Formats: sequence, structure tokens, C-alpha cells
Amino acid sequence: MDKAAVIGCPIAHSLSPKLHQYWIEKYGISGTYEAVEIKSDNLEEGVKGLIDHGYTGFNVTIPHKEAIVPLVDDIDDFARLIGAVNTVVINNGKLLGKNTDAYGFIENIRQQVHDIDFVGKKALVLGAGGAARAVIVGLLKENVATVCITNRTIEKAQALANEFQPVGECEVIPWEEKEVKLQEMDLVINTTSLGMDHFPPLDFNLSSLSEKAVVVDIVYKPLETKLLKEAKEKGVKAVDGLGMLLYQAVPAFEAWFNIKPEVTPELRKYILSEGGR
Ligand code: NAP
Repeated sequence: MDKAAVIGCPIAHSLSPKLHQYWIEKYGISGTYEAVEIKSDNLEEGVKGLIDHGYTGFNVTIPHKEAIVPLVDDIDDFARLIGAVNTVVINNGKLLGKNTDAYGFIENIRQQVHDIDFVGKKALVLGAGGAARAVIVGLLKENVATVCITNRTIEKAQALANEFQPVGECEVIPWEEKEVKLQEMDLVINTTSLGMDHFPPLDFNLSSLSEKAVVVDIVYKPLETKLLKEAKEKGVKAVDGLGMLLYQAVPAFEAWFNIKPEVTPELRKYILSEGGR
């Protein structure tokens, strides 16, 4: 029986067990997926415990995504660029660290905007936190022409632009001027916490945005943020953040259980439903 888990601290909030257990049941797999709380000062021991107990792999969440990097034996290109690991595959006691967030972000857009072509496009990324790193790497790997980064703390936007400039063209836009070049943008992506439950809304004036543009909000609580509502009212394609969460789990599940699971409307509904297992 293949055993997988998500490690973090605290871990009770994680949606990953509900998601992976749904697929385990759907595909009739003889396997398990559970939440394992591991505190920061016990990360190395905790991971060793999973290897010793025959786990096939695990997801990594807050606060271990960066701390796990020096503990893995090998790392994929996305995890190396993003500087964080969210998925580990265990093979003969060796750990392969992966990051599937960029895949989840891009695949979610592809599934919701079927004719999307990222090549040569200009993208405005709002935010410069952990999630922005995966979004920027995803966009640059898809060969967008330019990623414009704007953030309340401009130094963080500048640091990301400097770091990712070798991968592709990055530009910094001051937060106060985030709408100034909006007419040039093909994609606008909110990666800030603004708009999330218990946070203020994101006030962003979409009036100069082209009707052919795509607006993405990676916030998924609530599913329809003010930004997405205003994009829809303008007739612009609007992509919510739940799909990113679901699609980032696909390559992990496939690596551990050898089946590529499907993201379906039923799964979206189930994940949004209260409770779980
Ligand atoms: P983070 O590392 O803490 O970064 C937070 C970002 O939000 C920073 O850019 C921060 O700007 C900005 N911000 C926070 N409060 C702000 C305010 N009042 N005004 C302006 N900017 C503000 O968080 P994260 O991990 O990147 O996550 C960000 C969001 O993405 C969260 O809502 C999270 O739920 C969501 N997310 C979704 C997925 C998914 O699968 N859909 C995956 C990961 C994250 P400063 O740098 O100036 O502080």
C-alpha cells in the first residue's frame, strides 16, 4: 500500500487530505494520505520518520517549504527557481523535491481559457510574496515577453525582478502606479492577500484593460473576489484561484500513486463543501 502525507505546522487547516483522499477513493487505490504535524525544530527527524515508515512521498506546507530544500537529495528546476519545495517523492530512501505550484497556476488558466497562448504576452503580477514566486516562474517558463511586478513594498518587487531577470524579462512598477500601463497588459494576476477573507479588498481600476485580457486571482476564499467580479462585469475573462490549488496536486498524486487524477466540476464542488473526512 502506498502511503503519502502532507507535513506542516499547524496542519489541521490543510485541504490536501480531503483532496487526495477523494482521488484515492475515486480511483480505488490501495493507499493513504494523511496530515502529519511536524514542528520546525523537528523537521529532519520527522522526515526521516516518514522514510523509515515506508512513505512514498509527501506534500510540504507552511512553515517548511523553504526549510526542506537542504534536506532533499535532488531538486527539480521549478523548486530550485522558486526556492521552495511543496512535493517530495521518496525513492529508495532518496528524496526528490519538486514544486508543482507553477504548474498548477498555468494549468488552471489553460483549462479555463482554452485558447490562451502565453508566448510573447505581457503580464502584470500584483504581489511579491511566496505565491508570486511560483506565478512569475510559471509565466517566464511559458515564455511570456515581460513580467511586470508591482508590490506595496517595492524593494521586494525589485529583489524578485533582479532574481528572475536571468530567466526572462522582468520590470518593476511602483504600487501607486499599478494601473498606469494597464492597457499594455494581456494578463493581470493578483497574488497578494488582498481580497482574501479577513483582508481588505483589492482596489484596482480595470477601466483601461483590454477586453482580450485575462484576469486571474489566486485568492480562492472567497471564490469570486471583487477583482474577478469587476473583470466579469467588464466582459474580461476571469479565472479564480481554486483550480491552482487543485491542479498543483495532480503531478504529486501521479508521482506517488501512478494515476493522473482529473480535476472535475464535482471535485471543485466537493472541496468547497463543508466538512470532509
Ligand atoms: P505572502 O508571502 O505573505 O505575501 C503576501 C503578499 O500580499 C505580499 O506581496 C504583500 O505585500 C501583499 N499584501 C498583504 N497585505 C497587503 C496590503 N494590505 N496591501 C497591499 N499588499 C498587501 O503570502 P503568499 O503565500 O504569497 O499568499 C498570498 C495569497 O495567495 C494568499 O491569499 C493565499 O491564500 C493565496 N495563495 C493561493 C494559492 C492557490 O493555490 N490558489 C497558492 C498559494 C497562495 P508586502 O510585501 O508589501 O507585505
